[in-house]
Parts: sequence; structure tokens; C-alpha cells
Amino acid sequence: MRTDERTLAYGGGWLDRAAVQRADPGWVADRLSDPESELLALWRDRCLVSADRAPVRRSGAGTAGLRAAADETVFLGVDAGRAVFAVDLSGRSEAEACELAGAAEAVDVRALVGGLGPAEAAIQAYARGLLHWHRGQRFCGGCGAVTVARDGGHTRSCTGPGCGRLLFPRIEPAVIVLVEAPGEPERCLLARHQGAGEDSWSTLAGFVEVGESLEDAVRRELAEEAGVSVVDVAYQGSQAWPFPAGLMVGFRATAVSTEVRVDGVEVVDARWFTRAELRERVAAGRPLGRIDSIDHHLLRSWVDGWS
Ligand SMILES: [Zn+2]
Repeated sequence: MRTDERTLAYGGGWLDRAAVQRADPGWVADRLSDPESELLALWRDRCLVSADRAPVRRSGAGTAGLRAAADETVFLGVDAGRAVFAVDLSGRSEAEACELAGAAEAVDVRALVGGLGPAEAAIQAYARGLLHWHRGQRFCGGCGAVTVARDGGHTRSCTGPGCGRLLFPRIEPAVIVLVEAPGEPERCLLARHQGAGEDSWSTLAGFVEVGESLEDAVRRELAEEAGVSVVDVAYQGSQAWPFPAGLMVGFRATAVSTEVRVDGVEVVDARWFTRAELRERVAAGRPLGRIDSIDHHLLRSWVDGWS
């Protein structure tokens, strides 16, 4: 896949996450009270945006009310010398959250991505994923006691006596695979998933299970969902997908035969497409997957003949 990590939406390492400094509560508190620092507020997984749909960032003396109202405040990183924090207003109504943040409405970042710069899209997605994790980890899974955030919000620790369990943000890896047919003509396998439209085709994907390598997951998913055995499983790239906790890992693989047998549950149909067929679909206005997804990049790179 001819790309670098910044080609794919929602990643790219745009912030210095300052992993050493954020472990110091004094440093984090100083950054939070610094009038130069920026706060971006979210409400129940949504960005708070202005009337022209730009995510709101607040800084300076006017942020005290916002900070006081937050359910959780996490340090995201440093952007051109300024610390950036995410503030969770999910405990409020949408109207209250908008008023506190000086925003017009709350919108999912995936609905905004075409109008956002890549850094802003990545930072908003990162904030969304981290705050989502905090909301689901308020109690310890071992002893049931309350947990509290530390390390700038990148860890939670249990307050239970004799416990002290540490909780780390969870990432859920999934594999996504462009399967090529053996021999000529060159074709790739696309599937129609349960619930998708009659003419909605995409690459095959699935979550990695415990005790599997990524390559194991590729082989298992294709066997289960499409009845296809593959060889030459080759890594292509990865994409942060914090909706809420995904990491999409892209592969190419080659099928042993062109026989397909779908499971009828997750996948209702699967068939082989040539490059010419996919180009015709694009020309007819049927895009190759979501523009912000690694699915699109895997298909685009194959159609354009990138190695
Ligand atoms: Zn505990």
C-alpha cells in the first residue's frame, strides 16, 4: 500500500504525548492552569463544534467554568508548545455542554472528517477514544472499588484497600484483508455483509481473538466468513479507529483457490472483481468504501496497481 501513516485518517502522531512528563501530577496541573493551554470539549463521543462546524478549542481565563464542569479531563499532548487537554461533558445535557464550551452543536468526528485537517481529525478521534474508555472504567473489575485517573488520564488505578490494580486504555485490534485470486486474471475478493445494501461490497475484516497472531486472525476470518484458504499474508499498514477502541491492521493475502463459500451470517455474498470492474464502479459514482477508512486505501492501492 503506497502510503505513509499520515495518509490514513485519525492517526499520524500529530501531538507530542509527553509520556514522561504526564506521569508527574504537578506538571499536568501546571499545564492545565497555563492560560496558553487548550481545552477541547466532547459530549458523549461527539465533538463540540461552532456554527461553521469547526471543533471548539478554548484557552485562557474563560476556561475555569469548563474545567469545573468536566466529568473527566485528560492530557492529550503538546501541540507546537501548547498543552492540549480533552474535557468530557457527557454528564450534562447537550445544550448545557454546548453552552459551557461555547459551541453550537455536538457532531460525530466521522461526519466532519472531510472538512477537518488531518491533525484535527486525529486529535478529535484520540480524545473521543480516551474519554470513552474512562467512562467505562469507573470501577475496578477485580474488587469493585472506585478507580481514579492518573498519568494525565492515560491510566486508572483502583482505590480499593489491598488492590491497587492499574487499568490501561484498551485497544481492540481487527484485521482487514484484501484477498487476491491465484493466477490470472488478477482479481480481488469483496464481500457483501449482513445489513449492507444490495450493491455494497467491501473487504473482509474481523476482530483478533485471544491467543492469535494477526496472521492467524486473517486466515481464520477468511476461512469462517468466506470459506477461503489463504497464503502469503502480508502486512500493508494500520489505522487508528477509536470508535470506540479499534486498531485496524491491513493485509493482503492470496487465496489458494477461487472457490468461495460464505457463512450466510456475517457475510451474505462474496465474489471476485477485476480492476476494470472496480474502476467502472468508481466511474459510476460508487466509491470504494468510506473515504476515511483503511478499506478504501487497500482497495485504492490495489486498483491503481501499487505494490
Ligand atoms: Zn480493585
